[in-house]
Amino acid sequence: MVLGENRAAAAPDMAAGKERIMDENIRKRNEMLAQKVIKGLKSRNMTGYYAATKEEACAQALDIISEGSSITMGGCMSAIEIGLVDALKAGPYNFIDRNAIADPREALLAAYDADVFLASANAMTEDGIIVNIDGNSNRVSCIAQGPKKVVFIVGMNKICDDVDGAMKRARNVAAPINAQRFGLSTPCSKTGACADCKSIDTICCQFLITRFSRHEGRIHVILVNDNLGF
Ligand code: SF4
Repeated sequence: MVLGENRAAAAPDMAAGKERIMDENIRKRNEMLAQKVIKGLKSRNMTGYYAATKEEACAQALDIISEGSSITMGGCMSAIEIGLVDALKAGPYNFIDRNAIADPREALLAAYDADVFLASANAMTEDGIIVNIDGNSNRVSCIAQGPKKVVFIVGMNKICDDVDGAMKRARNVAAPINAQRFGLSTPCSKTGACADCKSIDTICCQFLITRFSRHEGRIHVILVNDNLGF
């Protein structure tokens, strides 16, 4: 093999090695940042957990959710991505599938009355504030009040510096993707950025900023060292 061939053969190995080091650096940085978020959550009477992997996150959620609990969710892709929804459906739990309830009001009331509500965040701040926007508002209303426990599954990709950054992420990253996902006719679904619209299809009817929980043990946030949701 000539020298040039040796170099060509080594190049993919070097690239893979560099990528592994970068991944490791990102993982370490996320782990340290998660501890800061958990501290912030504690100061706000909410409980934070760190999960290094999706599998750890799923196990942590199952540790928080008692067997026999009634559970609902509001469009929480992150809970699906970590395998939690499948585990709950297969296990000794009463998982209420809102799509299986024909009457929307009945589905709403069932969610409000559940033991556990699964949610993700559109964004979070480094000091533990949770930001969500909603069109129908079933999701934000259940986070604010109703279900006995709320379990958030949050990928570290959702963490922002402050509330301003979190709102920008919610409106310029999460909302355009969700608007496209649901085929909504909003400016952001066409341009990818928020135009502060008042379209009938807007998914920005209500903004919920969860900065403190008065109810001890109600809000649990599992921070996952992975990219989850939008
Ligand atoms: S206000 Fe309208 S344009 Fe802006 S993110 Fe919400 S739905 Fe999209």
